[in-house]
Amino acid sequence: MPELPELEALRIRIGPRVEGRLITAASVNPKKAHLLRYPVDNFALDLPARRITSLTRRGKHMVFATELGGGGAPRWLVINPMLGGRFQMAGGDTAVPSTEVFTLRIEGKQELRYLDFRDMGRIYWVGDCSQEVPGWDLQGPEADSVAPMGLDVFRTRLRRFRDELKDLLRNQEFLAGVGNAYSDEILFEARLLPLRRRASLKPEEEEALFRAIPLVLSRAVDVILANPNYEESKQDRTFMAVHMKGGKTCPRCGHRISQIGSNREPLNFCRGCQL
Ligand SMILES: [Zn+2]
Repeated sequence: MPELPELEALRIRIGPRVEGRLITAASVNPKKAHLLRYPVDNFALDLPARRITSLTRRGKHMVFATELGGGGAPRWLVINPMLGGRFQMAGGDTAVPSTEVFTLRIEGKQELRYLDFRDMGRIYWVGDCSQEVPGWDLQGPEADSVAPMGLDVFRTRLRRFRDELKDLLRNQEFLAGVGNAYSDEILFEARLLPLRRRASLKPEEEEALFRAIPLVLSRAVDVILANPNYEESKQDRTFMAVHMKGGKTCPRCGHRISQIGSNREPLNFCRGCQL
């Protein structure tokens, strides 16, 4: 599932290629039309001739703001890729994968494709995110806003929740943008075990979490952007320290990395150096 770093890197990479540009055509793969939370015919009719004014991210959603020429009302294309959604920016001559859900043709002979191999993504085409995208207003602050928020505000926010740390980090009402993969990485960085209860944290452990969240997220954005061969549609996460590394050696202490849960949704951590 793409999380904040993948979506942030995507925004940085494709934002400049689509912002200010006209959508010239939109097509929906009939086999995947059920993923659109909006009548499919209208989708293909409404999008062309609109201009993408900005590409932003909110939590795990990519948000394409659009407007019609002549100052019509703005509308937003909001996509939550969930488990198997990926974006692909391609020239028109690149073969369309069978996982394609929709394609936007964008002026300058570009195609922005949304692919989904799990058919769980959620696609909204709305005039008001707050009213029309479920859970929109429940999202907490962006997980990468933790550093500017400051330790005291973070602590106060943290203490409102009772979850185990793993669930806490994945709770979008606590912070938006972190899911199963980066919660493992953040807890590894903070040296905290995922099943610890929030209330068991000592003040210095709260601070370790406060420091680990922005560090892990920004480092991941940098790694993704620094990889010239990175393909959004494949989502390479081999750079991670513990996530999906069950049975391998901990890069920090040499202990064997533990895994709980399925191979698809694993929870990974190191019993040697996380407390
Ligand atoms: Zn370790």
